[in-house]
Amino acid sequence: MKNIAILGSTGSIGTQTLDVVRRNGDIRVLGVSAGRNTEKLEAQVREFHPRLAAVGDEAAARDFAVRIRDTDTRVVGGMDGLLALAGMEGPEILVTAIVGMIGIRPTMEAIRTGKDIALANKETLVTAGHLIMPLARECGVQILPVDSEHSAIFQAIHGEPRGSDSLYTTANQRQVHKLLITASGGPFRGRKKEDLAHVTVEDTLKHPNWVMGQKITVDSATLVNKGLEVMEARWLFGMDLEHIQVVVQPQSIIHSMVEFEDGAILAQLGTPDMRLPIQYALYYPERRYLEGERLDFGSLKQITFEEPDMETFLGLPMAIEASRMGGTMPTVFNAANEAAVKKFLQKKIGFLDIYEIIGGVMERHRVKEEPDLSEILAVERETHQWIESRW
Ligand code: NDP
Repeated sequence: MKNIAILGSTGSIGTQTLDVVRRNGDIRVLGVSAGRNTEKLEAQVREFHPRLAAVGDEAAARDFAVRIRDTDTRVVGGMDGLLALAGMEGPEILVTAIVGMIGIRPTMEAIRTGKDIALANKETLVTAGHLIMPLARECGVQILPVDSEHSAIFQAIHGEPRGSDSLYTTANQRQVHKLLITASGGPFRGRKKEDLAHVTVEDTLKHPNWVMGQKITVDSATLVNKGLEVMEARWLFGMDLEHIQVVVQPQSIIHSMVEFEDGAILAQLGTPDMRLPIQYALYYPERRYLEGERLDFGSLKQITFEEPDMETFLGLPMAIEASRMGGTMPTVFNAANEAAVKKFLQKKIGFLDIYEIIGGVMERHRVKEEPDLSEILAVERETHQWIESRW
């Protein structure tokens, strides 16, 4: 039996993780957590009987404790609750399926307490990768990618020569020349800037190939998500920006590719189904049977490629710039995006204002190199305050 805990078990990745658990029958879920969706969390507690359930919202946690008092599950609330879940004894793996930078402290707590991380929560690595990767190495734990693109790269380099430091051998030490991260292009692919001025939240949430949480769906439409993935790849695979390329592949069949020094390219293909990378991370390096639609090349007929439109979808070039500047700039980029997406989803700003906000905050920020955790969290707070005071 494997033991896991899930940070963000009520979300898109969280519920698909539980589906993988349900289908395999040899994983025990010792911890679950939600922000405030206690209805879904209650159903999970009653089905999986975890020891601990963490609820981000403190008031919701108190009500929830009363509601499930007939079970053996202990309820913990607020950031302390998320940290208790991350640090609890028992799980070998923490699945980080929470959304946003709020995942940083629990992820670090799980690493310190010796758990491998099945990482979906990319915002954590984007903003604190320089703290998390060395900590993982020091604590001897693995960071296993769940994001489909990073899982594809991870699968493609799996069989390549690596040193004794297996998981953390950088991609170029494995004779990788380039990482090719694929992108669907999102729901507005092919449109120009003037077409995007009046797109609605509803239009933005219609992703052509994936059903995901709202924040990442908006990020996919702005190409911020692809930018975050480039930054995530830098940390996970130790590759510099010049050797990471984004390729638009609208059918989302190729989940990413690796070009080796001799020009050979290995890709991972499959139907878009997040349960595959989730299951791969949970059982790595073992592969298990996974029910579901298989790729049928006869009916697929073609896979097409395009360059990303960096003039229209500014999320990608802005992210690359933030990554190039380094230090606190990726935090500013990410925090500004989190705040802007929230406002967009609340219909307080338009689609193009997301770029306006991110650009504005980046422009005024003075980079601090090698920020520690408290500096990162302070920059996040200041970014939110600045946006709140102006928008
Ligand atoms: P969802 O919005 O569907 O789920 C987010 C989860 O985090 C929910 O359980 C939510 O609880 C919880 N949560 C949100 N805010 C808080 C908070 N303040 N305190 C505690 N818990 C909180 O997101 P996704 O599953 O789509 O994405 C999760 C992460 O995975 C993101 O970083 C995303 O970029 C990444 N990812 C997602 C993919 C996907 O296919 N969905 C693919 C690749 C990466 P509640 O339900 O109560 O709101």
